[in-house]
Amino acid sequence: MSGLLFIISAPSGSGKSTLVNELRKVVPGLEFSISYTTRAPRGSERHGTEYFFVDRAEFERMMANDAFLEHADVFGNYYGTARHFLEDAGQRGNDLILDIDVQGAAQVKQRKPDAASIFILPPDRKTLEWRLRNRAQDQEEVIQRRLAEARGEIENYRGYDYILVNDRLEESTEALQAIVAAERLKRAEVENLPADPEAQACVAAAKSSLRDNMDGRVQSILASFAKPEQIMQPTQLTDRNPKERNV
Ligand code: 5GP
Repeated sequence: MSGLLFIISAPSGSGKSTLVNELRKVVPGLEFSISYTTRAPRGSERHGTEYFFVDRAEFERMMANDAFLEHADVFGNYYGTARHFLEDAGQRGNDLILDIDVQGAAQVKQRKPDAASIFILPPDRKTLEWRLRNRAQDQEEVIQRRLAEARGEIENYRGYDYILVNDRLEESTEALQAIVAAERLKRAEVENLPADPEAQACVAAAKSSLRDNMDGRVQSILASFAKPEQIMQPTQLTDRNPKERNV
């Protein structure tokens, strides 16, 4: 039986890696796909643990051999998911998580429409800024660029099945756990929900994370990223549309 595929994407600084690590600690039967990349290792990263670090020639050879389920150019470097991860996990009876960008997510969804895609968002701009500074990984210039790009990245949320706002780690881990559990129940084609209250709570929690149920929340997050000049003052509104004032 082939395993389930979970795609997780997020703007940089949304706390995705921590969340995925927490999920793997508490949910059995989940494997993590280690991507290939041409970017250089950072800090304590090791070949075969966070990524397989390869040069461009090697990556291009793999592309030519159709070794990737998806691949993309992200910030000037190649990243790709090797096909064999999905097959290997399935053979072991496990499900697979992919941590990939929006371009890769779109490619996987096209090839594997049953994959469940989850977009993780920061609760607002201020929190994202705080997290980017706190991880002390990037120069100020990079932080500013990531903040400027965040709104555009968040606007991709419509392509995903589930939206998860990562405010508190424990709650977010539970929400992610509920999505995995609900998708597993769906795969098992359980006719009637098990009477088990825990299973019912998972399904209800996963439903509340469905994209259509998160629209309002995403709009308010997007608003927190609006540039000051994009936020209209009440005076501007009345000056522009005097007839619409209804007075
Ligand atoms: P980083 O270099 O910070 O680890 O990752 C940069 C971006 O590349 C993140 O958005 C991450 O999700 C994405 N990424 C990592 N691996 C892959 C992959 O195999 N394919 C695609 N398309 N994106 C990836």
